[in-house]
Amino acid sequence: MKQPLFHATVSSSGVVRPTRVEVRLDRLAANFRAIRDHVAPAGMMPIVKANAYGHGMVETARLVESLGADYIGVAVLEEGILLREAGIRCPILVLGGILGNQVPHFLAHGLTITASSLERLDQIDQAAGRMRMKAKIHLKIDTGMERIGVHHYNAEAFIEKAVSLPNLIVEGVFSHFANSESADRSSARLQLERFNGVLSIFDRRGFPRPRYTHMANSGAILQHPESRFDLVRPGILLYGVYPSDDVERTVAVKPALSWKSRVVYFKIIRPGNPVGYGSTWSCDHPVHAVTVPVGYGDGYFRAMSGKAHVLIRGKRYPVIGTISMDQIVVNLEEESAFSDDEVILIGGEGDGSIRCEDLASWAGTIPYEILTNINTRVPRVYSERPGSGSADPGGTN
Ligand SMILES: *Cc1c(COP(=O)(O)O)cnc(C)c1O
Repeated sequence: MKQPLFHATVSSSGVVRPTRVEVRLDRLAANFRAIRDHVAPAGMMPIVKANAYGHGMVETARLVESLGADYIGVAVLEEGILLREAGIRCPILVLGGILGNQVPHFLAHGLTITASSLERLDQIDQAAGRMRMKAKIHLKIDTGMERIGVHHYNAEAFIEKAVSLPNLIVEGVFSHFANSESADRSSARLQLERFNGVLSIFDRRGFPRPRYTHMANSGAILQHPESRFDLVRPGILLYGVYPSDDVERTVAVKPALSWKSRVVYFKIIRPGNPVGYGSTWSCDHPVHAVTVPVGYGDGYFRAMSGKAHVLIRGKRYPVIGTISMDQIVVNLEEESAFSDDEVILIGGEGDGSIRCEDLASWAGTIPYEILTNINTRVPRVYSERPGSGSADPGGTN
């Protein structure tokens, strides 16, 4: 089986740490295409916030731009600026709430602003006027998330003001689901109904509909086809992970990220000699153990202590003792491993694989939090870009 080749983009010294994240760009591309084919004719706004859910924001943005993304979504201003500085030219929407004094930075970098209150409309309009520019905005409607946005029942005055201000281009209108990935679809349906009510205001009042209406995150892409509108906003699904266990899997995607390290130390632990901080683990017989240079300082959560497993040479072994900041100890019982042997923290294929969902359940959280917490101390290494949209090479990466 053909193995993808990887290159690291993070190391200037030429030294790449043995603990690394490997991202398969061919998988990301295949996931992008699978989602796009599923939602067509709706367009794609891939979400690359939080370092592209750990996959590397700039590399991911470059890839989706080359695949024809219509828009790119980030959470905060700084992420948008970073993408512009990296040369991304695709339209970029910053999804989160803003402060009035940030508006000039949005305009200077050609970033689209989420407008989520009447006060913000004025601030954006005035800043744009001062800079003799037009600000591209997307109106955020709160249909039941209660985070940011104008409540759906107050939307008429918001829309009326937005379309009347001279320095604003109302390019989009959007909302966000609170429960699109759950088996019970009633909450999402109610939010969608409220959003449709808001959209009808444009028609009733004779305002032109904005170019982009959007609402669907990963869960809605999978389960709520009537929420696709003009653009969809896939986050976790793009990365090949489903937003929940009970979501309907109407699009086939595969994980693009593996997290790996190497054995740096082998030893035999004598009975009664405890392992790690707090001496929480010990054995009544001698065991073979290896030490691996990864810990909660990399995002390998301490909460997984006593539950986590890793793969070495295709076999699953438990992590013993308390997970430290920089190291873990793995129990091989009577088996052996050697310095340099690969240790898979997330990855592998088939039954033997360890998924980020497994880490999430050990840590008592969701896959999103696992992926976004693999921090920048862990270098990202990328497979070669997909050349011809070639078939998935498979294999055990
Ligand atoms: C993060 C985010 C998304 C993507 O959510 P997923 O569940 O990862 O698909 C979409 N829209 C908004 C507004 C978001 O904040």
